Amino acid sequence: MITTAQIDRIIRFHGDEVPVVSLYVGVRPDDGATPATRINSLLHEIRPLTQDGSLCRRARMSVRGDIERIAALAGLERLGAGALAVFSCSEADLFEQVVLPRAVRDRVMVDATPWVRPMLAVLDEYHRACVLVVDRRSAEAWELYQDEMREAGKVEDPALRKPNYAGWYGYTEHRVRNRADDLARRHFRNAARLVDELFRTGRHEVLILGGHPEEVPVFTDFLPRHLRARIAGTFTVDPRTATPADIRHAAERVLEHYERDEDRRWVAEVLERAAAGRPAALGPAECLWAGSVAAVGALLVQEGATAPGVVCDESGWLGVRGDTCPLCGKPVRRTPDVLGELTDAVIEEGGTVRHVVADTGLREHLVAASLRFPLPPAPQPSA
Ligand SMILES: [Zn+2]
Repeated sequence: MITTAQIDRIIRFHGDEVPVVSLYVGVRPDDGATPATRINSLLHEIRPLTQDGSLCRRARMSVRGDIERIAALAGLERLGAGALAVFSCSEADLFEQVVLPRAVRDRVMVDATPWVRPMLAVLDEYHRACVLVVDRRSAEAWELYQDEMREAGKVEDPALRKPNYAGWYGYTEHRVRNRADDLARRHFRNAARLVDELFRTGRHEVLILGGHPEEVPVFTDFLPRHLRARIAGTFTVDPRTATPADIRHAAERVLEHYERDEDRRWVAEVLERAAAGRPAALGPAECLWAGSVAAVGALLVQEGATAPGVVCDESGWLGVRGDTCPLCGKPVRRTPDVLGELTDAVIEEGGTVRHVVADTGLREHLVAASLRFPLPPAPQPSA
């Protein structure tokens, strides 16, 4: 699992006088070149730095060490579809690998700090959820992120572990029940405190609750207001018999449902923006022009959509068709998926990208964007 501690370590890293090598390689099952081959050609681009007299000796040594270590990466053939990001600064003891669930453009950068924007843009699309399975006597928290779930904490009140009312001989049944309710309330308060503590680390975005359908709403009232607002959904489970796999599957379904709702909200917002005449772009042609002038604040892409198009590597112009770039006159490069190029361009300009899975009005446009400013008139593409 990608931990927030690892991401923080990468984001905060500064090599001082030694540079950091950041390398991204996409893993596409249909791609001819293996990741190892493409990593080698990326490393080839930065090899001259190891001889560059304008860098201090330690910097050259560091880059040399980074190249050796990245070239020796093992296990690449086991990567599924997605991307691998590597951040290395051998003289300052940094070597981090992050497997990303979505492909990004192959790229190598050497700079004073790690180049994290593509990684963060991909990870932004996934929610880190806190899953709490709770009943009147136990509460267990899990962290769910992408396809993995791990334990995050539990509350077990010793007084509740073996409820044994036999010792209260002489109590009326009514008083026993009151006593049990008191204990349950105390337990719910402790469980709410556990959730609060977990959210205070800032790691989790949403809360998912599982348990008996008559008990979960009772527990919910013990949560502070700001946590109640984070509830993505609830599921029914018997905490005493559920396996971690049961919990994970149920929580994943809740999260998926939540994300599809979120998809619909994102699309509605952009379509309303366009309808109201505020800066927005609908469809490949408009969105590509918006991407060409760095106008895109948030880009919505229908999941799995691709479209052929053209790119000018000189000016960054993106278009549906044409032979030469209308901005600089250079010949364009054809690409089977110009929407992928658009996504990379938006990320590089600090915009947000969201891949929409839900069936919404986006299907007829494939892409839509909310813009930072109204678009200038688009140049006419060459014949
Ligand atoms: Zn151009």
